[in-house]
Amino acid sequence: MSIPHLQGKAQTVLGLVSPDDLGITLPHEHCLIDMSIWFDVPRTVTGKQIAREPLSLDNLWYVRYHPYSNLDNVQLLDEKVAIEELMRYRLSGGRTVVDMTNVGLGRDPLALARISRATGLHIVMGAGYYVEDSLPPGLTMNEDDIARDIVRDIMEGVDGTGIRAGLIGEIGIMGWPLTESERTFLRAGAIAQKETGGFINIHTGRSPNSPFEVVEFLDRAGADVTRVVMSHIDRTLFFHEDRVRLARTGCMLEYDLFAWEGWMPESVRMVYSEDDPTRRADLPNDAARVDHLVALINDGFVNQLLVSHDHNSKTRLCRYGGPGYAHLLDNVVPIMRRKGMSLEQIDTIMVQSPKRLLTFV
Ligand SMILES: [Zn+2]
Repeated sequence: MSIPHLQGKAQTVLGLVSPDDLGITLPHEHCLIDMSIWFDVPRTVTGKQIAREPLSLDNLWYVRYHPYSNLDNVQLLDEKVAIEELMRYRLSGGRTVVDMTNVGLGRDPLALARISRATGLHIVMGAGYYVEDSLPPGLTMNEDDIARDIVRDIMEGVDGTGIRAGLIGEIGIMGWPLTESERTFLRAGAIAQKETGGFINIHTGRSPNSPFEVVEFLDRAGADVTRVVMSHIDRTLFFHEDRVRLARTGCMLEYDLFAWEGWMPESVRMVYSEDDPTRRADLPNDAARVDHLVALINDGFVNQLLVSHDHNSKTRLCRYGGPGYAHLLDNVVPIMRRKGMSLEQIDTIMVQSPKRLLTFV
């Protein structure tokens, strides 16, 4: 099997492509995912009853508010559903989807290749391990071993399929301060970045201190911070000054929970003692997200912003009454325009910045 010459190219599940072909890109989604590591059995009797029921109109009222407390909801396993849902994005003008599902979240390279062929979308696959729990038995927490596996995902392909990843991540950071294993994951990401020229995506911890600690750690580990994406800014940094402070480090700020409006679930598995309990339920709506982006653009950071949905559960799909993958294009771009963003700025955020990141250096 030949080693791909990555420099100057983007790598999708169907092979190398010219970055100019990527077009409108969703930089953080999940076409298929098994998020049962986050499944959280509720303490209430009603909750326990619903937890293992299939998602339906009878329990949607509950699951919409407690998305991690229904096992069926946190699993997107049906390729046909994925194709149908992603086709809406394609028909709205989308060209590329970055699928962050990696080891620990049920990554399936062959399924992604089929979905890419069926929809005509470019799909870029993630690499590496999501969190410590997802390490295969026998693999030690050694940064060189983990880095070697990430590099193999990108250079040779995943599990003998020959289907190669196009980025490093998402690397799951759970809390603040960093644990020893999280430091190892981050060092491994930095090593893999140096070897492949890919970009790193971080699932940042819930504490507002987390993204700062991670970016500083990666910088010291030798990573190229301008090619590091900090995901989930919407639920992590609640003040403009903090967002500016993070942008000044040079990393990318990703608003990737679009269409998730109003609250974060207070499930046991999702909350860590190191965060600010008064802000656990905080989440801006889409209009406020756009306000945050406009303020960052006005302060000169248009080149460091990304937008996506991070769809990872059934309630977020159209067939279950959710917003679907076309939501940003259909519903948010008009809000961006009304709030004064230029077409050029929207193009920078939705086309040019993902293209820069996806292009191996
Ligand atoms: Zn994600």
